[in-house]
Amino acid sequence: MKFTRFEADNYVYTGVLEESIIKEISGDMYGDWEYTGRVYNADEVKMLAPLKPNQVIGIGANFVAHQGDLPDTLPEIPVFFFKPTSSVIGPEENIVIPENIESVKFESELAVVIGKEAKDVSPEDILDYVFGYTIGNDVTAPQYFHEAGHWTIGKSFDTFTPLGPVIETKLDPSSIHVEARLNDEEKQNSPTSLMIVPIKEMISYLTKVMTLKPGDVILTGSPVGAEMVGDGGVIECEIKEIGTLKNTFKAVGKKAGVS
Ligand code: MG
Repeated sequence: MKFTRFEADNYVYTGVLEESIIKEISGDMYGDWEYTGRVYNADEVKMLAPLKPNQVIGIGANFVAHQGDLPDTLPEIPVFFFKPTSSVIGPEENIVIPENIESVKFESELAVVIGKEAKDVSPEDILDYVFGYTIGNDVTAPQYFHEAGHWTIGKSFDTFTPLGPVIETKLDPSSIHVEARLNDEEKQNSPTSLMIVPIKEMISYLTKVMTLKPGDVILTGSPVGAEMVGDGGVIECEIKEIGTLKNTFKAVGKKAGVS
């Protein structure tokens, strides 16, 4: 099932996408909901990020290029970071390159959406707590990584977390490819089997530290091939089973007549 948030006539709705039709729902997407009976044509509405996340957590440097590069043991403390929910945008919105820099990095990622409160859950059971999966672009300005290793600022600018286009609830995350095309040229295309910290272990680890709640989003890391992009670049992050998340990079620092 593909859950979506969308705007029509200045109102925001939640619905289920079936081919080109969206069936509006009411209630709690993670729990009790029902169809309202109203139906929209997907081409005639504005698709939004498919949820307003409770929080967004990312994992750093989590893909290798080849199976043989996978380490024998998992890292004792994986590199996690938070992204502010204010950085979330939806499909087709512009990713704004901050003033004073000319380019930022795209990172196409599988994004896990938590559906049930989870604390101290084993890797074997953790997928029972997952509501579904969407696509995230973990946009990054490495120019703003602190020399002491802190990534927060470089991950936090407004518009730096495109999500969408839908949350797919029926997905086997072990059997998919995470892809990205920049200006129609393939840049990333890796199976999730190339993750260093696998999805189940990653989320289980987080639940040993913090209570995860419905609406929490975990960005599971980007395949090899992410690049810096400047003004006008068009990025399409794709997971075939979910859809394509397309955004355009826009520089605000380059205003006409201002140097
Ligand atoms: Mg990332």
